[in-house]
Amino acid sequence: MEKIPGLQVYKFGGASVKDAAAILNLCRIVRDFGPKGPLVVVVSAMGKTTNALEEIYDLAYSGQDWAQQMESLTAYHERACVELAALIPMVKLSQLREQLQQLVLELTEEMQFMKLVHKPESYDQGYDKIVSFGERFSVLLVRTALTYFVSAVAVHYMPVQSVICTDETWREGKVNWSVTETRTRYIVEKELAAGAKIFVTEGFTGGTETFGLPITLGREGSDYSAAILAYCLRAESVTIWKDVAGLLNADPKIFPDTVRYPEISYRETIEMAYYGASVIHPKTLKPLADRNIPLRVKSFLDPEAEGTLIHDCQHPALAPAFIRKTDQCLLSFASKDFSFISEENLAVIFAALAQAKLKINVMQNSAISFSVCVDFSQRRVHQLLDLLREQFLLHYNTGLLLFTIKNYDSASIATLTAGKRLLLEQRTRGTFQFVCAA
Ligand code: ASP
Ligand code: MG
Repeated sequence: MEKIPGLQVYKFGGASVKDAAAILNLCRIVRDFGPKGPLVVVVSAMGKTTNALEEIYDLAYSGQDWAQQMESLTAYHERACVELAALIPMVKLSQLREQLQQLVLELTEEMQFMKLVHKPESYDQGYDKIVSFGERFSVLLVRTALTYFVSAVAVHYMPVQSVICTDETWREGKVNWSVTETRTRYIVEKELAAGAKIFVTEGFTGGTETFGLPITLGREGSDYSAAILAYCLRAESVTIWKDVAGLLNADPKIFPDTVRYPEISYRETIEMAYYGASVIHPKTLKPLADRNIPLRVKSFLDPEAEGTLIHDCQHPALAPAFIRKTDQCLLSFASKDFSFISEENLAVIFAALAQAKLKINVMQNSAISFSVCVDFSQRRVHQLLDLLREQFLLHYNTGLLLFTIKNYDSASIATLTAGKRLLLEQRTRGTFQFVCAA
């Protein structure tokens, strides 16, 4: 399959589309820094919209009133429409508003339907239907802005459900790569021939293969969406536009004195994302590495600055990276008869963890107990306890922190552990991890 010459993918996260001014900034980046060749623009939901939709869905699912939360979410998007029309005078406010109201109506009807007629077959399936509206809202504003700011002929909206195709693993759709590749290439090639140059689509979401039902790819999944499309289109590069200067050795909101990596390998980055560095969604790197597509992380506040280049490279030892994961749960399993934790017991525990969709962040075993640290979800932890209660004695603590130091040295361990009571610690050749109270 041939390359489409010069095609690049840009991903804009929630902070980069959080209001009308941010969307205008996005338009400037596309116009002034965009590639000469075609560009695919992948957009996240505005600001904290996904959290708000999760809350609305949870309220509805548990039979509580959600009208007020829905009103403020609608007002937030309406305000952005009004401000956008003020910033880009060619934007037709009445038309944009009408389109937004149409989406809000569709969302409200889904919610009403859920309340009156049936609960969705599964919590997760209903979640995907509702939460995916966040990206539909933001794409409406972004594509409208780009249409008037850059060019109406050049901008083509590509609904993600018609390109990214997954199975029915709700909230974590598994991509059908060959179908996604065929569809994406077909649409892009056809529209390129018709004069399109900028393809705008929703991040984080896709459609199921059989019925095209909305599905999400996992929280913070828009990076992954960008990688999927880049892979399918054999893009020249992907750029993730963020509110930080690039890939840093720690989150500057949590750790002082961070340093930026100007250049870093896929492997190092995959490991950092795996340990929970929030800068890139962990699934993003593999499709890019497979087709040797470089990934740039750049600041939308300073588009001229160098950022970070992630690609296939060799580099000397890196500065230690510090990663903090919050809301952790430490679970310990002991056999009821004080027998050793055997391979058979472990097999049962792992099967139950998989069934409850709990992902292990760290694990450790001792003679008669086995401990795992997972991201806390009340629903999933209770499901696990129900599955294992008969066979094991279980203990768990919640509200914990998991720290990881990648490429550690003794000074970095001493600084980070000072004054903390460690509930679990583990050291491998390259990585030091510990769990402690928040
Ligand atoms: N809007 C989604 C989320 O907040 C996806 C993303 O931003 O990457 O999780
Ligand atoms: Mg995000």
